[in-house]
Amino acid sequence: MEVLLAEEFGFCFGVERAVELVEEAVQEEGARPIRSLGPLIHNAQEMERLGAQGVSTIDSPDEAGADTIAVIRAHGVTPQVQRDLEQRAAKVIDATCPFVTRVQHLAERAARENRDVVVAGNPDHPEMIGVVGYAPNNTYVVRDAAEVAALPHLRSPLVVSQTTIKLQTFLEVAEAVREKADAEPQVVNTICSATRDRQDAARALAGQVDAFYVIGGRHSSNSVKLLAVCQEQCAKSYLIETPAEINPADLENVDKVGVTAGASTPNWLIDQVVKKLHELGA
Ligand code: SF4
Repeated sequence: MEVLLAEEFGFCFGVERAVELVEEAVQEEGARPIRSLGPLIHNAQEMERLGAQGVSTIDSPDEAGADTIAVIRAHGVTPQVQRDLEQRAAKVIDATCPFVTRVQHLAERAARENRDVVVAGNPDHPEMIGVVGYAPNNTYVVRDAAEVAALPHLRSPLVVSQTTIKLQTFLEVAEAVREKADAEPQVVNTICSATRDRQDAARALAGQVDAFYVIGGRHSSNSVKLLAVCQEQCAKSYLIETPAEINPADLENVDKVGVTAGASTPNWLIDQVVKKLHELGA
């Protein structure tokens, strides 16, 4: 049995960077507790591995003790939350993904120029809550173009996007803002290609294999979407969290098996799955 990996899979740049920064802190800071504000990564197995090295999660800056190394995860936080962490913790590691930082800074600058900011995204998502904190009086987060209709008149607006939304949604929002604004809006596409690249690579491979394994958390939305993409072309597509979940019966009469992984799935877990597939196929 041949095991084929999709061309793009696993950790995105921002998540990989966040985990590396935390691992460096584990090496350098010795016994001091390392606490991430919110889960560092949506993968239970990786959280368990980091937990064994003294990394834990807090829900609020109030929980950061004076000896704590506090970590801001890839989604970023509001400037106020960052200040709160800096006041309470011994040190703050800012692992905000640079693609998210860019959106925060664009919003901040537009607000300084007294302009409105429209962000296409989910207002409840932590990344959006952080961005709004950079321009609290000027920013509107809308899920789609229909929600733009409810906004007041917009002053020389900036239109940006949550990093993980669909391009079509962003373009429709930008068009709706154009109709509502007093001047031509500044439209900056801030969508990150990591999710789309993984889906495109899975789609390209799914037509060539007899079975497909997507490795990722059942609560990870990008992993669930990857599964849906694979299922379009390969009926025997499965979402698994660990190699133990592979059912050998599913591999009967399978000559080629595809593998991909969500943006929060660590390489060591992917290696374990590939190894198990090789063993079962031998
Ligand atoms: S999905 Fe993109 S924006 Fe989000 S953390 Fe990963 S690289 Fe950064």
